[in-house]
Amino acid sequence: MDTTRLSRFVSGLWDDEIVPQLVEYIRIPNKSPMFDKDWVAHGYMDQAVELMSTWANGKLAAFPGATLEVVRLEGRTPLIYIEVPGEGDDTVVLYGHLDKQPEMTGWADDLGPWKPVIKGDKLYGRGGADDGYAIFGSLAALLALREQGIAHSRCVILIEACEESGSYDLPYYVDHLAERIGNPSLVVCLDSGCGNYDQLWLTTSLRGMTGGELTVQVLEEGVHSGDASGVVPSSFRILRELLSRLEDPATGKILPQELYVDIPAERIAQAKASTEVLGTAIYDKFPFVEGMRPVTDDLVELVLNRTWRPQLAVTGAGGMPALESAGNVLRPQTAVKLSLRVPPTLNGSRAGEFVKQLLEKDPPYGAKVSFKVEKDGSGWNAPQLSPWLAEAVKEASEHYFGAPAAYMGEGGSIPFMGMLGEKFPQAQFLITGVLGPHSNAHGPNEFLHIPTGKKVSMVVAEVVAKHYALGAKG
Ligand SMILES: [Zn+2]
Repeated sequence: MDTTRLSRFVSGLWDDEIVPQLVEYIRIPNKSPMFDKDWVAHGYMDQAVELMSTWANGKLAAFPGATLEVVRLEGRTPLIYIEVPGEGDDTVVLYGHLDKQPEMTGWADDLGPWKPVIKGDKLYGRGGADDGYAIFGSLAALLALREQGIAHSRCVILIEACEESGSYDLPYYVDHLAERIGNPSLVVCLDSGCGNYDQLWLTTSLRGMTGGELTVQVLEEGVHSGDASGVVPSSFRILRELLSRLEDPATGKILPQELYVDIPAERIAQAKASTEVLGTAIYDKFPFVEGMRPVTDDLVELVLNRTWRPQLAVTGAGGMPALESAGNVLRPQTAVKLSLRVPPTLNGSRAGEFVKQLLEKDPPYGAKVSFKVEKDGSGWNAPQLSPWLAEAVKEASEHYFGAPAAYMGEGGSIPFMGMLGEKFPQAQFLITGVLGPHSNAHGPNEFLHIPTGKKVSMVVAEVVAKHYALGAKG
């Protein structure tokens, strides 16, 4: 393999075609169905599918026998399914998603979620880095191999449109397509993070997630707070008390032992090693206000908190008027949206059931309490790395980043990896991504670091080639 030629090819394709495609993609407000109940009527998801599949179809001409199909199961988000024939009888699955997080507030004056802006090496806008580039990066890798006539196994590219809603449609597609997908021995996922932009970061674990809406109702309608306070218990106070069953309000520690697992020794060692590479960048990357400190100054604890321990975020509220229109009312109800990350090896749906019982049992004052579970994805812990993959990753990081590869768990969730890990326990995983410091997926000012997007595409090319040369064949 001529790595210089490969770099030049991938870099040129990004500059000439992929970046312009992503600019157009960012303009489309195709929010995940959970954030746009009318996504079908709006048609934005179809626009994104159309943009990607048109480009991909054009490129597939380079591969004899390659096919692309937009699969649409009744009542579900669409899925782009691409098959590129290869040598031997092994299969590589390359995964990504095209649905986006909602807008979020706080974008800089000259930026916006649906407004692509290129500044230096960065392409700003929602969804470029998470995870619009995945289909382009995956195909760029295969095209780069094709250009040099380098053999690879059969490749299946799956791009779903429901990831940001917890991938609830995906299991149906995996069942529907099971025979066509086959039995992958390598899964490539470009939807993850990186600790910095200086080296290749391999994701070794992902947290699972459960969550939903917690509602506390105390009255049929709001009443004068001067009249009722001290008589009618506040729904906010009850909600606060219920949350304290789950989380220690002073430390943020999740209390029930049922939501913890034993952290494998190898992962603790890797967490320590990653703190040596990253130092205080582990928390410096967050836009803290002046004077604000992280949860603890023990870096290893921070990494383990973020990757292997349960943690709660309250992501939305209901039953409360906006500040400008808040009168002196004892409100009838308070609701919050909970997002609970759970350890990689904990069963997500059992965790959801547990949290539901914990919050709903013995409601204070007989209040009407309900917890509606909306998400219950399990996490993922990488299987033992095969020697061929360890070797391929090491070399690819050196070739394209000029630095050794690093290994770290991620705090986020990619439900599909948990599903695949269960279905294909023999498969090896290359999970990486461009979500590095300040890239801020899900928040304001999200950007795609273009050089990292290119390098990750190059790494995928080399690893897919070595999968065939060293893994599948040898
Ligand atoms: Zn994503």
